[in-house]
Amino acid sequence: MKIICIARNYSDHAAELSNIAAGSDEPVFFMKPDTALLRNNDPFYIPRFSNEVHYECELVVRINRVGRAIEERFAHRYYDEVGLGIDFTARDLQRRAAEAGLPWEAAKAFDRSAALSPEFVPLAELGGDVQRLHFELLVDGEVRQRGDTSQMLSSVDRIISHVSKFITLKMGDLIYTGTPAGVAAVHPGEVLVARLEGRTLLDFDVR
Ligand code: MG
Repeated sequence: MKIICIARNYSDHAAELSNIAAGSDEPVFFMKPDTALLRNNDPFYIPRFSNEVHYECELVVRINRVGRAIEERFAHRYYDEVGLGIDFTARDLQRRAAEAGLPWEAAKAFDRSAALSPEFVPLAELGGDVQRLHFELLVDGEVRQRGDTSQMLSSVDRIISHVSKFITLKMGDLIYTGTPAGVAAVHPGEVLVARLEGRTLLDFDVR
């Protein structure tokens, strides 16, 4: 199982990070190892190597069959359920790496940096259109991020088509599809709740 993450997929978030990643017409992706998974609403422990770990709430698509070089028009056949995740990012390390023109791996792929909802919801239960979904992240009960998947710069099908040109997708692979605006640092004691179409899928605390 691999975790593929898309960078800068909502223009309002891309604008708030304009100093970190240059723009591109193609989806920009990076990966996290399976050791990055944070499951079952377990608490997130802020790692010692960063003073600025940000939450990034994202729609997560789970791949349900093997595919490579998938044409965009067939990409919808490769997933049928979605969940939510948090792409935790050591923003201070990422900024330093970006300024030096180096990869972001340490800032993005560290242990437990990929919170994943215990439950995935069949797309059919949500109306069937992955580009018509709303999600939100609350920190201590206050809405900090609102996502509307119709606002993605690259659609889920375009992402799958693009990534599968380079990397074979397998059953169980996860695609974190990018975050909307509103990212900020987490602090010990905060409670993160993420909802997809009104359903609470993530609910855990920061320590
Ligand atoms: Mg992200």
